[in-house]
Amino acid sequence: MTEARQVVIVGSGPAGLTAAIYSARAQLSPLVIEGEPSSTSDQPGGQLMLTTEVENYPGFVEGIMGPELMQSFRGQAARFGAEYLTAKVSRVDLSRRPFELWVGDPESEAATYAAEALIIATGAQSLMLNLPNEERLLGYGVSTCATCDGFFFREKEIAVVGGGDSALEEALFLTRFADKVTVIHRRGELRASKVMQQRAFANEKIAFRWNTSVIDVLGDTKVAGVRLRDNISEGESQLELSGLFVAIGHEPNTSLFKGQLELEDNGYVRTFGGTRTNVDGVFACGDVQDHHYRQAITAAGSGCMAAIDVEHWLEDQQSAIR
Ligand code: NAP
Repeated sequence: MTEARQVVIVGSGPAGLTAAIYSARAQLSPLVIEGEPSSTSDQPGGQLMLTTEVENYPGFVEGIMGPELMQSFRGQAARFGAEYLTAKVSRVDLSRRPFELWVGDPESEAATYAAEALIIATGAQSLMLNLPNEERLLGYGVSTCATCDGFFFREKEIAVVGGGDSALEEALFLTRFADKVTVIHRRGELRASKVMQQRAFANEKIAFRWNTSVIDVLGDTKVAGVRLRDNISEGESQLELSGLFVAIGHEPNTSLFKGQLELEDNGYVRTFGGTRTNVDGVFACGDVQDHHYRQAITAAGSGCMAAIDVEHWLEDQQSAIR
């Protein structure tokens, strides 16, 4: 049997849970389909579940651990009546209203939920090198966010992997803290824009390792170095480091919506005038529609916007019926 809901929120990072707090307080009884535990950022709580200390979220003088912050968001929304389902959405049908969502078998005839309005907050994930020790040391010297973690590497030697604008932007930012930042790039030529290249080449704290891949991250409880392979000579070497920033791109979690929602060329959900998508009644917030700021605080802000947009949209629907 399909269960009818007024508002369904898919995703439970800062955007989804802030949308839940606001829509619960607006008495819209939101259901949050929060995802399933996994070792990637694609899990309840989102990318902050993979960080340790968060020092730039306003309101916490001494900082707060990422998972603890998300636990507070979750509890706050629950306090106002948000309900949670710990599962992944396996299929959606946005072709008519109410929108249909499946959890579990995507082939089953009846949808699991029918939603009057839908908030998409499925986030994005950093692309990773997919090395076993990289995953183990994530939050312990391996990071995907210089803005968040750069501060922990004052006077240290660190590296950034990647050759695009993100990698150089991270490297330049990290020179504020670190003594030396080595950019490790798999080819002999950067993908980044010329202006970023010029800035990086001009910075004496930045060094480059060309045609080089990271093949292992070393360290017991925190990063101590990396194992490298020269992609031309195929020779292997080791580099001692305190931190490794992986900046090889991001991927929005939009595969569920392909062909049903308008996406940007880079795969992010296209939003119009706030959080509206091209499908009336479907709203998107947080990193799934933001490839620029990508901060917990901006995601939370856009979650708030989505809940307010939904509230107004539902009111408009009701006055159109009257
Ligand atoms: P990107 O342009 O796709 O660059 C990704 C980089 O990571 C490339 O150099 C790529 O190497 C490397 N890479 C990918 N997979 C890898 C792997 N498995 N192992 C090792 N290296 C790997 O991504 P981005 O830098 O995140 O930028 C995304 C978009 O945002 C771009 O359009 C960029 O211009 C824009 N952006 C702009 C700014 C700015 O203007 N300030 C800042 C950030 C981002 P190859 O080069 O060999 O493919």
